[in-house]
Amino acid sequence: MKSFVENSRMACLINAHPWNESSLGPIEEWPSELYNAVSTMLEARIPMYVAWGEDCIQFYNDAYIPILGAKGENEIGKPTWGTWSEIWPVIGPMFDRVLHNGESFGFPGFNLYLQRTSYIEETYFDFSYSPLRKNDGTIGGLFLSCLETTSRVLHERRMEMLASTIPVNYDTGQSGDFLKESHIQLSRSPKDLPFSLFIEYNVEKESFSCLSKFGLSNPDPEVKGFLSPEGVDIIRNLSTEGLFESKKILKDSVLYDLKPWDEDPTYCYIIPYSYNHYKCRNYVLLGLSSRTSCDDLYVQFFRLCGRYLQHQYEHWQMRRQEEQQLQAIQELSSKKDEFISVASHELKTPLTSAKAYLQIAERSASNSPQVAKFVSGALKQLDRLQKLTADLLDVSKINAGKLDYKMSELNFSELLQEAVSNFQSTISTHAIEIEQNQEALIECDWQRLEQVVNNLISNAVKYSPQANRVVVASSIIQNYLVVSVRDFGVGIPQNRIHLLFERFYRIEETAMHFQGMGLGLFIVSEILNRHKGRFWIESEEGKGSTFYFMLPVKGAQNVHEEIDTEYNYSNSHIAIAVDKDKDFLNVNWLGFQDNQSVRHGCLKMLDMLKKSGLRKVFNDNRNVLGTWSDAAEWVGKDWFPMMEAAGLTHFAWIYSKSTFSQLSADKSVDILQGKVVTRLFNNGKEGEDWLLKV
Ligand code: ADP
Repeated sequence: MKSFVENSRMACLINAHPWNESSLGPIEEWPSELYNAVSTMLEARIPMYVAWGEDCIQFYNDAYIPILGAKGENEIGKPTWGTWSEIWPVIGPMFDRVLHNGESFGFPGFNLYLQRTSYIEETYFDFSYSPLRKNDGTIGGLFLSCLETTSRVLHERRMEMLASTIPVNYDTGQSGDFLKESHIQLSRSPKDLPFSLFIEYNVEKESFSCLSKFGLSNPDPEVKGFLSPEGVDIIRNLSTEGLFESKKILKDSVLYDLKPWDEDPTYCYIIPYSYNHYKCRNYVLLGLSSRTSCDDLYVQFFRLCGRYLQHQYEHWQMRRQEEQQLQAIQELSSKKDEFISVASHELKTPLTSAKAYLQIAERSASNSPQVAKFVSGALKQLDRLQKLTADLLDVSKINAGKLDYKMSELNFSELLQEAVSNFQSTISTHAIEIEQNQEALIECDWQRLEQVVNNLISNAVKYSPQANRVVVASSIIQNYLVVSVRDFGVGIPQNRIHLLFERFYRIEETAMHFQGMGLGLFIVSEILNRHKGRFWIESEEGKGSTFYFMLPVKGAQNVHEEIDTEYNYSNSHIAIAVDKDKDFLNVNWLGFQDNQSVRHGCLKMLDMLKKSGLRKVFNDNRNVLGTWSDAAEWVGKDWFPMMEAAGLTHFAWIYSKSTFSQLSADKSVDILQGKVVTRLFNNGKEGEDWLLKV
């Protein structure tokens, strides 16, 4: 009796099958092509399948058995459409084309919904269908080889969804939006994740609240929460993640909104997280597809989704705490401002009355030198108190944006002269010398600008107890009135110099030796800003400081003509020359710079670099005065990359003597984007030598 070599499970089953009772008859009566095909198939190690004749009598090998799932291994000898009735509408037409037209098919990742367990399964196969020919060339059956790729295809789809999850932007929107946004991202693949619920459990209150969800809703607005009483119990006692029946965890009334399949999701995977162990725990409930089983790869996907949501939650918490802290700080700060405002107002009237009484007392005490001395001492202290109160009042007005300015046109030299004389009349320790007093028409509030001059002179006197003079000067440079107040006192450490104009800032080392509140320079900067002015400081510790400010002069004309040729450019702010001999662009910045002059000069430099084809720049700032901080960021972030694209490779930057200009240069270089090699020099010769060498 003819049979198959019994070296596989299916070979034994085929041999044992009662073929006599079938339309094929016993094995020895089979056509040799069928016998050979089945024999080859049985020996193969990948899933193979043969359907013979018009009845599609099926044979398969051992590797094919798992594809049958719960249908079992005993399906041999039955027609394909019987075993695979659920997909016959899809594969039947293909069988027909193979058996009747002799066509072959090959498909990677072909999607089939198989009923091989208790539920319909989403499956994927790589397969090939081809005709099985008889010796006479006619078609006797169909030969199928296939590989199931379900697990890989689903895993790739899930990972793709996670990989395209865009991190939620924490800077926009309210903190609570994080989780919602994150859920929206995850809801893009409902076949893998039909619903999700993020639950916060408050340990103290023993209460659950749903912070965010997708794919679930409560039809009745009265029904609060999604968890059934049993679900609450299960979750409360849950210590490790696991798979649960959705109907046990969720209320009966809950509806599934996303419908990737006809069936509702029956299982959910729950992962507990501990955020702040004693205060709160979180649970992420993730819905399972109704058409797959929960294998290791699916669990891995759930863990990644859960972690992602938990991460968002933790960021949300941090953000919420930051917002609360910020709010508390703002409340405190506004209470402080309110207190300053009320206190300075309330102090003003009794101080004015006390001063009036003391002035009367001073006059009445003219015949008692000792009383007169006490009264004059008391008056001096009262003056100080009045100044402090006035400063506090100004600060509270600045904070509320209510510092009034009465602008008018005036000659600044008169203001300076008067301010200096008035100040001099109150002190005998220092001589306030006016070195130069330039006539200049400016638009300003006399009183406020006098306050600026007074503050600077009084600081100069206060912080130079060992000196006996303060030098004041004003001059016009490039359409600006530049005023300086110079002292020969304690000086200021370089690394603090840029902080002095902040509210309440005082240098720790000197604060204990000198009285003050750290408000004077803050008020100065506010007033100068409102006058479109700028200010900066030069100082050397132990030698003294010079405070500068500059204001636009009315009606000033720019007299410097612009020269623009192929190799040279110059205006009142910059001179650029193409130096072919030294092989660099020679740039000399002149005087005060502002945002506009820096941008204009830089773009001119860019233009000349492109045209000349040079790759190096000698950037000389030695003639730069004051500060140009408003352009520093643009130079580093925008202009340097443009220069790099134009071919710049090396940039020698020679510092200005002005500390504030140096700080601006440092800032540009610090934030510089790109690969241009930049070096800062104090000495022009060193910078030039470096450029010639590189
Ligand atoms: P105050 O003098 O009341 O402390 P200011 O706002 O006028 O407040 O000054 C802020 C800080 O700047 C001072 O505490 C001091 O450390 C420093 N400062 C101001 N002017 C000078 C100066 N001419 N020399 C040295 N340090 C100064």
